[in-house]
Amino acid sequence: MGRIVMKFGGTSMAGSERIRRVANIVRRQQAAGHEVAVVVSAMAGETDRLVNFCREANPLYDPAEYDVVVASGEQVTSGLLALTLQALGCKARSWLGWQLPIHTDDAHAKARIGEVENEALLASMAAGEIAVIPGFQGLSDHGRITTLGRGGSDTSAVAVAAAIQADRCDIYTDVDGVYTTDPRIVAKARKLKYVTYEEMLELASVGSKVLQTRSVSLAMKEGVRVQVLSSFIDDDATPADEIPGTMIVSDEELEGHEMERQLITGIAADKNEAKIILTRVPDRPGAVATIFGPLAQANINVDMIIQNVGRDKGETDVTFTVPAADLLRAQTLLEAQKAAIGYNRIISDSKVAKISVVGVGMKSHAGVAATMFRAMADRGINIQAISTSEIKVSVLIDEDETELAVRVLHTAYGMDATDEAA
Ligand code: ADP
Ligand code: ASP
Ligand code: MG
Repeated sequence: MGRIVMKFGGTSMAGSERIRRVANIVRRQQAAGHEVAVVVSAMAGETDRLVNFCREANPLYDPAEYDVVVASGEQVTSGLLALTLQALGCKARSWLGWQLPIHTDDAHAKARIGEVENEALLASMAAGEIAVIPGFQGLSDHGRITTLGRGGSDTSAVAVAAAIQADRCDIYTDVDGVYTTDPRIVAKARKLKYVTYEEMLELASVGSKVLQTRSVSLAMKEGVRVQVLSSFIDDDATPADEIPGTMIVSDEELEGHEMERQLITGIAADKNEAKIILTRVPDRPGAVATIFGPLAQANINVDMIIQNVGRDKGETDVTFTVPAADLLRAQTLLEAQKAAIGYNRIISDSKVAKISVVGVGMKSHAGVAATMFRAMADRGINIQAISTSEIKVSVLIDEDETELAVRVLHTAYGMDATDEAA
């Protein structure tokens, strides 16, 4: 007998009929002889709706109160799933973040999980109950409700799996695995049977929202076995235990499964970045520290940075990106620091997208970036910024060209599925 954590995303939980489908999948997993804990998201669209209410109430909202509002979507679906399971004759009990509790730090709206207390869960499961846990939420040291950042239910699921030493954490979503790129953008995307933690981490961090980035780093750190699979399945679908989806594996495990590693594993697009340009910043030591220090203190993550070559009069333009959701705060902060930084103008643009190609294979291959730049140039797509890591190349482009760029690159790296394979 194994112990399985099953996580269901927003589309899977959207409405009574879908929750019944989920309850059936959960019941079958338990009937296969496993102890089962379930982590659920809010219904699709619900968290966006709640976020909008916060913005309408106060554009510069207090993140602690935002958390009180946005955590409520998961409370609803966890109760509804427990009720639906009971209606099917299963024993089920919900456990809210504060009841277990799931301890987090107090970085509201992007809290990090510390410890997940497992006593109540283990006792509930040992008594034959299905434990249903709302994802996305936790409890701060100050006794206040926190949320983990958008898409955070994936991280809740992995943290619960680690805490109860589950044999597997199955992430059920609306696609049947991890693909070479978003299958909703590129019809010829190919499903991957295996992807390494390292590659999945990089893909997630550059915008493949199929898994939240922190869920992957936590799974890697805690050695949690994660599978991504579809909840939109019939009763006769391949059981989850036979791995119908994509398994996230270690490097060594992948070697055992695949003869030859692909140069590029996947391509991701992220439209949630915004670009800021500060013009005529004094070109002297300490100048960039006065820009990025306050942003870091305000917990705003800066991603791509370009400091242009100095112009005349010892001045330079500094360009960088921040999450679009933090743009207003970043601008307000930078305007307050105008005299200290000494820039001339602040220009912002949220109509940008970051396109990234990821693959461990590029560690040992030259020319990946050159192929990218050539393919984009051939289609007249202008590159506004570039950043690289050992296994990734990212470019910033006009948001309107996102889909085109992803398709062009998917073809350029020879990743399109052939008709037979598709
Ligand atoms: P959930 O609500 O289940 O958490 P998400 O919407 O967060 O689901 O994530 C699933 C979506 O991720 C898919 O519908 C798909 O459009 C998108 N996606 C982006 N990149 C990929 C990829 N490489 N492979 C699979 N899906 C991807
Ligand atoms: N409901 C939250 C969100 O939409 C968390 C999640 O679905 O993972 O971001
Ligand atoms: Mg998600």
